[in-house]
Amino acid sequence: MDAGSITFPRRQTRQIHVGDVAVGGGAPISIQSMTTTKTADVDGTLQQIYALAAAGCDIVRCTCNELEAAEGLARIVPRSPLPIIADIHHQYRMALAAMEAGVHGLRLNPGNIRKPEHIKAVATEARDRGLPIRIGVNGGSLDPALYDKYGGRVTPEAMVESAMQELAYFDEVGFHDVKISVKASNVPLMVEAYRQLADATDHPLHLGVTEAGPPPAGLVKATAGIATLLAEGIGDTIRYSLTADPVEEARAGRQLLEALGLRERKNIDLIACPSCGRAEVDVIKVANDAMAAFGDREIPLQVAVMGCVVNGPGEARDADLGIAAGRQRGHLFVKGQNVAVVPEADMVEALVEWAEFIVENGTDAALARVDTEKARREAERDRADLLDDKGADANRSEQRVEIIRGLRS
Ligand code: SF4
Repeated sequence: MDAGSITFPRRQTRQIHVGDVAVGGGAPISIQSMTTTKTADVDGTLQQIYALAAAGCDIVRCTCNELEAAEGLARIVPRSPLPIIADIHHQYRMALAAMEAGVHGLRLNPGNIRKPEHIKAVATEARDRGLPIRIGVNGGSLDPALYDKYGGRVTPEAMVESAMQELAYFDEVGFHDVKISVKASNVPLMVEAYRQLADATDHPLHLGVTEAGPPPAGLVKATAGIATLLAEGIGDTIRYSLTADPVEEARAGRQLLEALGLRERKNIDLIACPSCGRAEVDVIKVANDAMAAFGDREIPLQVAVMGCVVNGPGEARDADLGIAAGRQRGHLFVKGQNVAVVPEADMVEALVEWAEFIVENGTDAALARVDTEKARREAERDRADLLDDKGADANRSEQRVEIIRGLRS
């Protein structure tokens, strides 16, 4: 089976729209993040929203915790490149104000707005305006009544029941434009809650591990929860909740979806060897420099950075483009074929230049523009030299053999 043809199943869900972004019902999985600025700071918030859009974010959430924030939203919405969701925690009036401001959707926390008449007032207004709402259950702010009912513990059952109760209030007023999340900071709890929720409803689900913390631990935790569910077909939209610049959240979401083959690659997929005693270059530095040089540029190629020309080109033969170090030089290869030799200091620059050429002209044109045979001979020479230098000597084999032989007597 070809790696590119392996796909994960997708759970069938209803479709809703957040602005012009479809969520559920087979739509591409969307990436969300949340601004960290005061929403009343219109320019600061818009700056962050533009940075999020550039990093691959599809939908952005802004807090609407006070009337000044709602006023800010009224000014942000018409200038935003992404649909805006207002995050409402305690005051249902803020939900009404946010809708007045023109947002594209709301997030309500059922643990915080508990009066049925308030919930129904918001749902009725959203219904009339054609706006979607996310029921955002959070393990840390579960409705106290449910907390007590489940023995003073946050359980998957309690979280799902909270979501279903809210859904029932929405149903009463004929409002169905809903997506749901049951986030927790505990990964097994969150995974199980989403599994149960997926069995209980066909509304689209928004995945996240809440309060995952700073990277890299936060990234691992969030990925453990989100990726597990996505691989099971559960999840229509995702958010990494990191204690970091929100751009990191959007980037992580995009990279996860690309890694799982759930989103078409837009940016570089950098692969690099882990380095070893054979490495002829500081692989970590070159890989990081390359990552920084490519950044968020739209170069949808797999690019390899390999520490030595002995094994590098072979191990990365499927990469669109790569470089392997050898004797203070970098051997560039395209789809496993050597194409050029560059000084070590120019390796990253050369990678970027070749990547741009391939994106613009294709692989065949890249191979046609150089004497691949000459590049192959050069690589073969460095490879042979390195094998002579390090291959036989790396383990001090002869010396060891003598010692082992000595053990016989
Ligand atoms: S490519 Fe070379 S340097 Fe990198 S891990 Fe393999 S043998 Fe070691």
